[in-house]
Amino acid sequence: MKQAPVVIVGGGWAGLAAAADLAARGLQPLLLEAGKQPGGRARKVAFAGQAVDNGQHLFIGAYHHTLRLLKQFELPVEELFKRQPLHLTLQHPQGPKLSLRAPRLPAPLHLLWALLNAQGLSTRSRWQALKFGWRLSRHKVMTQTDQSVLALLRQWQQPRELIESFWTPLCLAIMNTPVGDSSAELFLSVLRDAFLHQRVDSDLLYARRDLGHLFSEPAMQYIEHQGGEVQLGRRVLQLHIEQQQIRGIVTGGGEIRTSQVILAVPPRAAAALCESHPELAELQQQCSAFEYEPICTIYLQYPKQVQLPQPMLGLLGGLGQWVFDRRLYGQHGLLAVVISTGGKHMRLTNAQLISRIGEELQNHFPHWPAHEQAMVIREKRATFASRVGINSQRPDNHTAIDGLWLAGDYTRTNYPATLEGAVKSGLQCATLAHRAVHTPRQDAFS
Ligand SMILES: Cc1cc2nc3c(=O)[nH]c(=O)nc-3n(C[C@H](O)[C@H](O)[C@H](O)COP(=O)(O)OP(=O)(O)OC[C@H]3O[C@@H](n4cnc5c(N)ncnc54)[C@H](O)[C@@H]3O)c2cc1C
Repeated sequence: MKQAPVVIVGGGWAGLAAAADLAARGLQPLLLEAGKQPGGRARKVAFAGQAVDNGQHLFIGAYHHTLRLLKQFELPVEELFKRQPLHLTLQHPQGPKLSLRAPRLPAPLHLLWALLNAQGLSTRSRWQALKFGWRLSRHKVMTQTDQSVLALLRQWQQPRELIESFWTPLCLAIMNTPVGDSSAELFLSVLRDAFLHQRVDSDLLYARRDLGHLFSEPAMQYIEHQGGEVQLGRRVLQLHIEQQQIRGIVTGGGEIRTSQVILAVPPRAAAALCESHPELAELQQQCSAFEYEPICTIYLQYPKQVQLPQPMLGLLGGLGQWVFDRRLYGQHGLLAVVISTGGKHMRLTNAQLISRIGEELQNHFPHWPAHEQAMVIREKRATFASRVGINSQRPDNHTAIDGLWLAGDYTRTNYPATLEGAVKSGLQCATLAHRAVHTPRQDAFS
């Protein structure tokens, strides 16, 4: 029977981060991924002979764990991304354009300056936004009990115009949950992390490589180079637990014995693996209780000369919410339009959605030629819903079973579903598993 010191189940960013860290510590981990490629919900897909992503992802400067790990893989991090100080532009096809740009001032002054000088907002909106930013920077914007982001914004007298054209798209982009349902606690935690520590934390990082080339493939190479092993197309079917301790995992190919398992699968898959173990009933219920939100990405290939005025643009007044220019990937003329959460677009066929988004872009940029090819990717369970009260429902990395750890964006990271949350939880589990391997178990009889 095969043995491994630590088995990681799931090769998304959480599992890959855990395996890379354990491999670097000399533990020779074995990672088992059910899919044919690594990356999970942040992976490479093919479109018109080029590599794109299953959904356009945006990184920010506050993704410290992710950036550190990329450096550990000896990748030239500064070349992997175009780093841009916070610059958001949101526009109506014919209407006003809202633009917010952070200057090179220390945090949080950069935020306050950006809010005070935002273009396209009434004086009242700018003033109320500034007041909110100022109170946030003094740690005065708090929620004793969680409430919706919308309720919080109303409590802080944010005008309707500001909520509709700025806070709502920002909340959707960060939380992937409608502003009326989103957890204010979680939203504030992201705002604090991005804006209150160092100016560079709020930088926007636009990747120059697809997600496979950026992270999953270098991660796999790194794990294997450090003596670990990654097996793709290997689904874990069962956990073997005896006397409150993990003993192994079962795949179609048989059992693998181990004393440490990091479960880095989404909550539904974690719930399924816990099902036959009464000791894990509480965790099973916790994982089954998650609700999900979709993200839809529409890729449109235009003639090569078509380009956006900046790498990302907010679209107001239609179905499309953000549009990204893939020029940075060397993919000239290729745009990715992102729609977060559910809505009318979910009732349209792919052909209808492509034609609708094509029309919306035409309204924004009337001089553009027609697009040549298009593809829709709908990730139905893109992220867990970051609803009010979500933080108290999230499991942490420990479980009731000795040697069984839980990693993934849905664990208690204090972030919404993000790459950074996934990586951070994976690294935390690696530390726990490593410590457990090097600390002999204290049995009741010893
Ligand atoms: C379209 C889209 C856009 C997004 N945009 C952003 C963004 O801009 N910025 C950002 O930070 N985040 C974004 N996210 C969120 C981010 O992608 C996720 O938070 C992150 O990828 C989750 O990683 P994970 O490792 O926790 O889980 P997953 O990626 O779900 O990985 C779990 C892995 O476990 C495997 N697995 C499941 N069951 C088993 C089993 N029984 N045996 C073996 N393997 C199994 C799965 O195949 C999967 O590979 C986006 C997500 C989507 C879908």
